Amino acid sequence: MSSERLTCDRPSGTSRRSAARLLTALLMACTALLGTGAAARAETAGTGPTASTIAEALADSPVYVDPSYEAAVNSAQQDALVDQIATTGLPIKVVLVPLKKGDAFGGNDRALASVIKERLGQQQLILITTDKYGKSLTGTEWPTDAHQSRDAAAAVGFLKELNDAGLAARVGKAVELINTGNGTEVYKAETARIDKEYSARPMLDENPSGSSSGGGPGTWLAVAAVLILAVAGTALLVRRRSPRHTAFTFPDAVFAAEQAADEAGLRRQASAGILALGEAVEHADGAATPGLSRALDAYDAAGRVLDAAQGMPDLVGVLALVAEGRSALATDPGLPLCFFDPRHGRAVRRTSWRPLGRRERVDVAVCEDCGQALHARRSPQVLAVRDQGRTIPYFEVAPERSLWAATGYGSLLSGPDDTLAARVGTGEFSRARQRSAGRGAAGE
Ligand SMILES: [Zn+2]
Repeated sequence: MSSERLTCDRPSGTSRRSAARLLTALLMACTALLGTGAAARAETAGTGPTASTIAEALADSPVYVDPSYEAAVNSAQQDALVDQIATTGLPIKVVLVPLKKGDAFGGNDRALASVIKERLGQQQLILITTDKYGKSLTGTEWPTDAHQSRDAAAAVGFLKELNDAGLAARVGKAVELINTGNGTEVYKAETARIDKEYSARPMLDENPSGSSSGGGPGTWLAVAAVLILAVAGTALLVRRRSPRHTAFTFPDAVFAAEQAADEAGLRRQASAGILALGEAVEHADGAATPGLSRALDAYDAAGRVLDAAQGMPDLVGVLALVAEGRSALATDPGLPLCFFDPRHGRAVRRTSWRPLGRRERVDVAVCEDCGQALHARRSPQVLAVRDQGRTIPYFEVAPERSLWAATGYGSLLSGPDDTLAARVGTGEFSRARQRSAGRGAAGE
């Protein structure tokens, strides 16, 4: 496998023992890569800096910043980090390189850490790197996680005080937490807060079952305000001081006006969901979690869809992928998100439903409200999208132009091996998008 590439620039005079250590590191790296399918990709010749480039630079300074990150962490900030690390007296090294599939590390932060550790040959080392999306930090410590480096680095991504902070400030905070040694405590407190916010959102949807017959926008804002107060402290909503970021389904008439504001809130919710899933994956016990590789696939796909998301339907798709990843980690997988509008939250049961104008019934997963609406022969509140100049339920978009219409955000998948992540992985999301753009159907 990749031993040839990784050993070709090995310093001369390396002993057999060192070769054995390298093999161990490679095995560790491969173990870390298993399940993501990245092991195969790691073998391909890469772009970006090699392990030896990074290791040589780290011999001179504990902070290595790839040129592509120099805008985010300039030389003055690098010097400040070097000074900060020096005051801790800890063997901390910082490696900020963009990770991409096909690079020397297979785009995997854990593989990067293992290889760098091997290169440096230090018994004691605390390594701070970016994660594979460059959106959060990864902390790895040898020989044991005595300074709670892993949780310290992870906690940084959740701290409210760093919401708008740059990479330099985030790394500085990670160093600070590692030095304090209370990363786990901070991590637990922050993830509990995020989880609370995240689980509070579906509650917002349970109320407006009669939304289409309800009052005007004024009533809606009043209801929204009350609910906002009810979940005061849920910073994602309150911080932006806009009551329109709730996950309400709005009557069609105000759809367009609300869409932009809703989208911003949804994007934040989707990002938070990915972060939380990533953390859950990181902390999952591999031996006791048979669905770990599926969860990783879902995490990976969610990140890709978020990066390419062009509007509400894609952002909702990120939520569906996050839910799929959560299911893969759970002992009891549960249902996908509500078919009619995934923002309603996870479905509580499956039911058969006959789409308007069709003879055959389809089996879909529904939330409590939508289930009741169907039972009472009312229309459920559906996720509406703009398509070819019309506002229609998302599932009425031609399936070849929308992965979400084709899959019902998870409800219409054909079996246990048919997953949203697998479909994104085979390029279905991008192909549908291209077809959509080709037909001028974006509509926005
Ligand atoms: Zn629903």
